Amino acid sequence: MAVPGGAGLEQAERETMSKSSYEMLIEQVREIRTLESIESLLGWDQQTYMPKCGAAHRANQSALIAASVHERFTSAELGALLEQAERVADRADPVVATNLRELRRDYDRAVKLPTRLVREIAEAGALAFEAWQAARARSDFAHFAPHLARLLELKREVADRIGWQQERYDALLDEYEPGECAAGIHELFAALRPQLVALTTAIQAAPRQPDRELPRRPAPVAQQAAFNRAMADALGFDFTAGRLDVSAHPFTTALCPQDVRITTRYDERNIADSLFSVIHEVGHALYEQGYEPRHVGTPMGTYVSFGLHESQSRLWENLVGRSRPFWQHFLPRLREVLPDWVGTDLDDWLLAINAVGPSLVRVAADEVTYGLHIILRFELERELVGGQLAVADVPEAWNERMRELLGIVPPDDAQGCLQDVHWSMGAFGYFPSYQLGNIYAAQLFAAARRALPELDAQIARGQLRPLLEWLRGSIHRHGKRYRARELLRVVTGEELSAQPFLDYLNGKYRRLYGLEA
Ligand code: ZN
Repeated sequence: MAVPGGAGLEQAERETMSKSSYEMLIEQVREIRTLESIESLLGWDQQTYMPKCGAAHRANQSALIAASVHERFTSAELGALLEQAERVADRADPVVATNLRELRRDYDRAVKLPTRLVREIAEAGALAFEAWQAARARSDFAHFAPHLARLLELKREVADRIGWQQERYDALLDEYEPGECAAGIHELFAALRPQLVALTTAIQAAPRQPDRELPRRPAPVAQQAAFNRAMADALGFDFTAGRLDVSAHPFTTALCPQDVRITTRYDERNIADSLFSVIHEVGHALYEQGYEPRHVGTPMGTYVSFGLHESQSRLWENLVGRSRPFWQHFLPRLREVLPDWVGTDLDDWLLAINAVGPSLVRVAADEVTYGLHIILRFELERELVGGQLAVADVPEAWNERMRELLGIVPPDDAQGCLQDVHWSMGAFGYFPSYQLGNIYAAQLFAAARRALPELDAQIARGQLRPLLEWLRGSIHRHGKRYRARELLRVVTGEELSAQPFLDYLNGKYRRLYGLEA
């Protein structure tokens, strides 16, 4: 209630009379997020429809908006509003508490980095990306090495300015996985490593083996696109609040929950490539379409972490999309769209889309070996940031660990340490998110199973809404209210553990490949 004005009015009383500092803060943050979404739209356009010659002007547009976002978010005015809101706003309200906690975190991180450093990273990153592309094309690591060294130097400075306790890497990891540290990730991965190696070896020697050519029969793009669209719709992707387009690499861009855009690419000789990328991106998109509208533009209306985001895409792609119930429903639909595929047998198809084996390239890896690719990258980048591994020794260390973990060695660096874009963008600490996504997904799906006893039967009938509604209520609607480990505890009643993921893999693949339990 408003209180009559007067010289002796307390701060809290004044707060109730007009807009509170908290409301003003949220208003400003929403404007900044709107600006960011304009930058996202420019990025989406760049990768889908922009003519090639538009690149230079696009870079200017994006840089201008990025600078404006940084300036506004780190302004003294916003800092003062945040401080005032922290003093007077009602933190018993979990929405207010969450928004203030996360804005404080983001603000502190942003103001600790001088504009000079932010600019140097952007410039070094642009040069490194170009050098990486050339180096990969020629498989010439030495061409990329000085750029990698420069980015490491800058990112170490970032870590030192942000602050860390156990090791520098923690500060970089924290950007993608708030609250996580290298030691914790190491412990989680240590539980995975021997079991993933053992399962991969067992599958290699299994009596039953997939026909890897099965998904490679000709499938015209128009038919693939029609099937993908129908499948995305059945998964719950809202086409009145999203689009599906084509790009060189599949991705998801969310402007707001009412405008979420996904992309895929098509290969007439490999239907699986497009199909599973669509399910994956739909998984990301369903998260973005699932925030509460009233929280849009605030921490309560966004994702928990990169790993949690990835858990949604992996859950739909792998636990649902590569399962028997899913294809009991969708294989007959696929046969309708592609008459050449009429003879495709469900068991053969399931084995083919769950083919497991050591491979050189992370993005083409199966569910079982994928984690080994991540463990390798996590170990190397942790040592690079910590200074135990010299840049010049990366190719040798990479190949050595490929031999240890997967039993194969890349013939060249293009298919080895130069294959991923992440390090060329200075994104050290990003890789663990992918495997955390797999681990979270297994834990969440097991909880969904307990909550929805009819889940398999529903999926086999093509009824995917009950699972989506469960994810909406358990995860999407909470925004950033909980950190990842806390959210898992709330939703599953368990601590974060690699065991459900291992149980899922062992159960599924031993059955598929006819191995002893
Ligand atoms: Zn993803």
